[in-house]
Amino acid sequence: MQSFEQYIDGAFEDGSARFASIDPATGKVWATMPEARGTDVDRAVKAAEQALWHGVWPAMTATARGKLLYRLADLVQANAPKLAELETRDTGKIIRETSAQIAYVADYYRYYAGLADKIEGSTLSIDKADMDVWTRREPIGVVAAIVPWNSQLFLAAVKIGPALAAGCTLVVKASEDGPAPLLEFARLVHEAGFPKGVLNVITGFGPTCGGALTRHPGVAHIAFTGGPGTAAQVVRNSAENLASTSLELGGKSPFIVFADADLESAANAQVAGIFAATGQSCVAGSRLIIEASVKEQFLSLLKTKAEAIRIGAPLDRATEVGPLCTGRQREHIARVVAASISAGAKLITGGRAAEGEGFYYQPTILDCDGVNSPSIETELFGPVLSVVSFTSEDEAATLANATPYGLASGVFTQNLTRAHRMIKRIRAGIVWVNTYRAVSPIAPFGGYGQSGHGREGGLAAALDYTRTKTVWLRTSDDPFPDPFVMR
Ligand code: NDP
Repeated sequence: MQSFEQYIDGAFEDGSARFASIDPATGKVWATMPEARGTDVDRAVKAAEQALWHGVWPAMTATARGKLLYRLADLVQANAPKLAELETRDTGKIIRETSAQIAYVADYYRYYAGLADKIEGSTLSIDKADMDVWTRREPIGVVAAIVPWNSQLFLAAVKIGPALAAGCTLVVKASEDGPAPLLEFARLVHEAGFPKGVLNVITGFGPTCGGALTRHPGVAHIAFTGGPGTAAQVVRNSAENLASTSLELGGKSPFIVFADADLESAANAQVAGIFAATGQSCVAGSRLIIEASVKEQFLSLLKTKAEAIRIGAPLDRATEVGPLCTGRQREHIARVVAASISAGAKLITGGRAAEGEGFYYQPTILDCDGVNSPSIETELFGPVLSVVSFTSEDEAATLANATPYGLASGVFTQNLTRAHRMIKRIRAGIVWVNTYRAVSPIAPFGGYGQSGHGREGGLAAALDYTRTKTVWLRTSDDPFPDPFVMR
């Protein structure tokens, strides 16, 4: 049985209590985790506040902060195999995906390492003769970074990288499901030589640990990734201290295929869009919107591909679809699939929990044409694709936007002018044309509507972790003029 520790103020320690972590491939306990409660959260935020204002960190140049981030990136890269194995063990995400993703996480840290000393204020051409006026970009303060169970190292990196580049300090809360890789990552932060208190990593339960963190008066900004219901609670909590928020939430992303598309290529992308990571991806292309004239042909292609997927142990490199992270996630999926079939959706393939131990669920396709299927509206966060068809471009755009979410979308067509029209019409933060599920530290990422606000990735994300201070310097030696007139 493995045992993990939380990281507060530069020290590794047990939490106020401990809880068991389940291996999703077996359904059995494999490790114990430290549970942070109110007092742990309070100590972590106070350590981050202390590090923000006093000691080495605020005195460090931005270039020196960047060098620390480069060192962290190298350590993440060197330890990627170990971190990937831990993530796979604790969340069930397949080793093929965790290995590739965590090696790439190092590049996110490199991107923000390079950006640290390029965050600039500006000199203003002010409309007053005897004044020099300029702005400084200062760290926003202590950041609470909260991530869900899927891709914890990746989702944390897109918050930690820009926040540290901007000079902030952080308390990172790992999800209670699968926190092992983030707790282990804290050891790399320590080894990289960040001053104590700059980055603290805790885990614990949502309402207690997450609640205490988001209501803490020492927190200036909350960078949250999770579901819209939890996000609403986080925003209510943030109001107590008027902390700012950035919210990366769920999705019900449309995957639109026109008859003129390269159907083989689109089918491969659709498999990546809905079955990769066992569908536990915020950008999952979970609604296939297919031109009616090629619907049967495309579904037949997809069915063949879905049924050829290798379901198996997540640590096996040959596995393509592993278990879901939790038993309750599988129950949620099974419930919605059953309700959708009762509502009239036609099961093309899958629709059942896979045999044996662990939280497996078969890759599933539901034909929802003409049916009011709950699977079309509900984010399932699992390997379930709902299909509807269209007969005109206008109808395709209307169907794509028929959701309160707006995170990602895919458009498959060889018609360039149509692609441009669709790019403008789709209400989503990302449009992938003839590709899907591509990400980069250089490209902004975030949603419209119920998919949240704020963007991660790119230069703007680092600026979001700063506040602007405006400096007015009077250059005249004359006495201060009439005090009763605003200058
Ligand atoms: P949740 O919203 O349930 O949880 C997200 C995080 O919030 C977890 O760390 C959770 O802790 C914590 N939390 C729960 N309750 C509270 C609270 N009252 N106050 C503060 N924090 C709290 O999301 P899921 O774990 O169910 O993750 C799946 C969701 O995340 C999906 O909707 C998915 O689309 C979205 N997501 C969005 C991404 C994006 O970039 N847009 C990327 C990945 C996922 P605990 O786990 O301990 O309960």
